[in-house]
Formats: sequence, structure tokens, C-alpha cells
Amino acid sequence: MERNKNKKVIYFRKLSLPLALLACFLFLFQFLFAQTLPADNQIGAKQKSRHKQNTSLYQTQLKIWCDALLKIQLQKGQDEGGIFCESHGFVHGRCGDAVYPLLTLFKLTHEEKYRTAARKVYRWSEEHVSQPDGSWLNEAGGKNNWKGITCFSVLAIGEALRHHSDLLTKKENEEWRERLRKGADFILIYQTFETGDINYPVSAAAALALCYKILGDERYLVRAKALADFGLQHFTENALIWGEGVRGPNDTTPKGLRPIDVPYNMEESLANFALYGTLMGDEKVLATVAASYISHLNWVLPDGSMDAGWCSRQYKWTYYGSATSDGPAGGLALMQKRDLRFGEAALRNLKLRVALTHDGLLHGGPRLFERGVPVCSHHTFTSIKGLATAIDEGIQNTADVSLPNDKAFGLREWPEASVTQIGVGPWRASVTTNDIASSPKRGGHPMGGSLAMLWHNETGPIAVASMSDYKLYEGSNMQKPVSDSALFSLTPRIEVISNGIRYSNVYDGEAKSRSFSGDSVQLIVQGHLRDSNGNVLPGANASFQLTYTFTANSFQMAIYTVAAGARLLFPIVAASSERVTYKADSTLAVQKNASRIKIFGSDKRGWESITNTRVFNFVPGFEAVPVQIMLDKNGKGLIRIEVIK
Ligand SMILES: [Zn+2]
Repeated sequence: MERNKNKKVIYFRKLSLPLALLACFLFLFQFLFAQTLPADNQIGAKQKSRHKQNTSLYQTQLKIWCDALLKIQLQKGQDEGGIFCESHGFVHGRCGDAVYPLLTLFKLTHEEKYRTAARKVYRWSEEHVSQPDGSWLNEAGGKNNWKGITCFSVLAIGEALRHHSDLLTKKENEEWRERLRKGADFILIYQTFETGDINYPVSAAAALALCYKILGDERYLVRAKALADFGLQHFTENALIWGEGVRGPNDTTPKGLRPIDVPYNMEESLANFALYGTLMGDEKVLATVAASYISHLNWVLPDGSMDAGWCSRQYKWTYYGSATSDGPAGGLALMQKRDLRFGEAALRNLKLRVALTHDGLLHGGPRLFERGVPVCSHHTFTSIKGLATAIDEGIQNTADVSLPNDKAFGLREWPEASVTQIGVGPWRASVTTNDIASSPKRGGHPMGGSLAMLWHNETGPIAVASMSDYKLYEGSNMQKPVSDSALFSLTPRIEVISNGIRYSNVYDGEAKSRSFSGDSVQLIVQGHLRDSNGNVLPGANASFQLTYTFTANSFQMAIYTVAAGARLLFPIVAASSERVTYKADSTLAVQKNASRIKIFGSDKRGWESITNTRVFNFVPGFEAVPVQIMLDKNGKGLIRIEVIK
């Protein structure tokens, strides 16, 4: 288990004066010394030019995204000023959050159209989702009356006023400040500690701190501090934030786990905690947030994506983050002076989002554009918020620093989530044996020793976890599948259909795993095949064993179960445009750009016929070849994967 070696919490207020002076000297020494460090941490002339280039990438991308949003901002009719969503067929209630980034872009470009767009989307929001009680609704027209999102609307208007009040008329300033006051007063009444997942109380703390700074009402300050103190109670022993799902002091699972969601943590909870700490000058919060970001960097893959197939709100995972949150750039920018890796992680994630932008709009996953899925505007109009913060905070990416997953690390155990990370040679992977419950509002994530991610340095993702069953837990924040092939779970798994019911390891919350590491890493998982309600496969043959073996040259998954009709399903990530061939040596080959994935199996029946078949899932937005392996008469089967340069 990794113990967050880099965690440094310094309580300045506890220091005596001499110690404080010594601390200041050491800080200055560290700062000066950092300028002369070689290699990873150096800020040299070359990096300065890179900084210029990368700073402009944030600004360039903000303009690309905003220009595309302007094209879908309605210019007449009942919804004039709203930003239309082609995928959902209506204007999302939260599009009003774009007021802040649109003003940031106006300040950068002096192009009046962006200020006009900001004013119009503000007006749409006032007319369609703003409520007399001071709240905002999640969606207009009764589609979703959740008022918890008021804290995000307050943050958007508050940040617009904090950074750009000079761009608004006196009358507008007065109106927006009054609207902000109503929003803050609503939060005082509405937002309890227990309202919403943990990102809500933490974001409400930031929203009220911001309102205190702008409006000066002490009530906001008092409540902001109380909410922040509550948030501080939600860090695990390894500095991950918990509370995206079941929470409360005793609300752990039977295994003692907490619901954790890396994308929500990085893009909303930590980002808004960082804003709170910055506004309040709260060193305890800032040190805690920095330590937590360092811990969360363990889940950022080298390509800037997030390994989040195991997370409690996986149903909104889109490879680069969460479908409806702000992106990690803003929060990481607020904390960038504490660790150069924060800027690096923000930049890599932005580059991934740039790669998944088509016709100016960020798509909800890597293969949505190629499949012709209508794009949801939500991803773009929330991502620009994070970019605006990053730009207004002067984000700098001044060094080519390593992130935790750039180098092999063997095993990392996260007992608070019952998930194991593997980093052997070029392989990065995660395996989960969590028992986080699903409910009518939350769930769908895999359990039972599922392989949540299999990633290789040469190819990127080879296998990913999807929702075990695709359900629209948040109808207006998720996209509807249009065919059965888009309902296929991509999670590698054992599966048995018995009396029309699907049984699998992915539904087993009681599975246990053990691991061994040396030159190679092995994980052995034992459990029972269950249905989606947790019922064990009837009969005496429900037990299973999975054995994952990672070496520098190969990955192998071996399974054992004597359940009748059991098969190993192992969808291999492959776009329709990537060539898949069945070779004479009975292997399957997936051609990537500069490398080839070679797949061996203990059973190859049907492999010849699937080379042109692709299945798809919105979580996390990949296409895959549906490789299947039937077990032998002893109940055994295996798949082995190599990557050939
Ligand atoms: Zn949409």
C-alpha cells in the first residue's frame, strides 16, 4: 500500500517566530534551488518557450470551444441566448455557467461577440432556470428540478464578477451582484452537510467564500468555513476524497469502503476546495488539497486520461474525466506553485480533450464522433469554465516533469477503495474488488476482481471497464444508445446466461484478491458468479477464480469456473478504422498506429468472424472487438496479450 510519501502538511500557525523565519528561509531556498535543479524540475530557456506555447494552447482552445458554442447559441425564439444541445435536443440548464469563460475570452480578444454571448446566456438562464427563491434548476421545463447546482451557478457569476466586473456596465454589475446575493442566501438555507454528493458541500464552501469576498456578508463566511471543515473530514488515509455516493460517518460498505470518484474529485471537489483555500488564504486547506492532488495524480495515465473505471460514479466517466464537470485545469492551476506536476497533468489532460474535439465541440468519449453520435454541448460549456480559471490564474507549464504513472511501479494498493494498480514494464492497469452498492440513482460500476483498465505505453487503452449494465442514472447528463451494439459492456469478464439471467464476476461484491510482485505481478481473485441483484448462480458451481499475470512482455488473464456454459468475454479496444485480422497462427491482431496488439487464446472459435465487428459503450466511449473464449472441459480458459512494435 502506498502511503502518500509526498504528503507535507505544514501548520504555520503552530510555528514560533524563529521557526517561522526558518521556514520562510527554507521556502525561499527551496524556491531558488528549484531553479537550478537539472532535468525533471528544471525551468530553463527551452521550457520558457514551451511555457509560451502551452499558455497559448489554453487560450487557443478556449477560443475554439467558445466559437463552436456561439454557433449553437440560439439567436431567436423562446430559447434565445441558450446553448442548444444536439444530442439531447434542448438547451441544458447549466449553460448559464458559460458567462464567466465567455467574459474571460472577451478580455483576451476584445471581440465584442463574446461579451454579447455572455450577456445573452445570462439572460436565458434568468428567464428559464432562475427561481424566485434564489436557486437555479438543473434543467428547464421540469426536466430536472434539482437545485443543488445553485452553487455552480453562483461560482460562475461570482468568478465573472471577481475577474471581469470591469467588462460589465454599472447596471449589469448591480443586477449580477443582486442575483449573486439571492443565490448565496439560498445556499445558506438549502445546502446542508448532507445535501448531494461531497462535491456539493465543498463547492458550496467555495461559492460562499466567493460571495463573502464580493458582497462582504459575514454570514457567508461563517457558513463557508463550516462547509469547508466538513469537507476536510472526507479525505482517506491515502488522501483521496471520498463521498461521491453513500456517505456519512458510518456509511461504509460491508468491506469498510468509501465511495470515491477520481474525475469528480479532480474536476470539482479539489478544484473548488483549492478556490476556497486561495480566497480564504487557508493554509490547512491548501496543504490538504495539494497532498490530495498528488495522490490523485496516481490515477492520471501518461496520455492525460483518468483511470476511473472502478470509481463510484463511473457512469459519467468519459476517459478524459467526468461528462459534466469542469475539467482539472482550473484547480490544478490554482495549486500549480506547490508542485510542477500539477501543471503537467493539466496540460496532458487538455491535449487529450483537444484530440477529442471535432468541429469545435468536445465529444463525450474517444469514438463518439466516428460513430456519428450527436454531440452533447455539456462537455464543452463546462470544460471552458476550467480553462477560464486556468487562464485567469496564469497557468504555466514550464517543465517536462514526470507523472506517477510514467514509470513502472509494481503494485499500488488502495484499501479504502479495494482497488489495485499495476505498473509493470509498459503496462498500466487497475483491478477492483469493491462492494460499493448500486441504487436507483447511482451505480453500474464493476466489482468482482474486474479489470478496470489495461493500458500499454505503445497502444494506449487495450481493455476498459464499462457500466455492467448501461442505465441512464442521470438522463439529461448521459447519452442514449441507439443500438444493441452500444449496450455491450466492455468490461473483461466471466459470463453465464442461465434461465435468461446473466451471471458474472462483475456483480460479485464479496470477491477477494491477493497479489504477488517481483519481476512480474500476479493477482488472484476468488468469488462467486452473481446476477445484477447479487444473487449467486443457482447450483453448486458458482465459484470462480481469475488470475492476472503481468510481465514486461505480456498480460495474461486466466479463469477457472465449472459453471456450465461459462465463457470469458474480453473486448479489445479497437476503433472501426483500425484493422483487425485473424492470423494463420490462430491469433488475432489489432493494428495500431506504430504497433500491433497480438492476442492469443485457449479457444479461438468465432474469432475469424469478428474482425469487422465492433461493440461500443458510452462509458468510457470506446469501440471494441468482442473477443470470446469458451472454457475447456476442466473449466479453464485464458487470454494472453502482447504488443509488437
Ligand atoms: Zn446534451
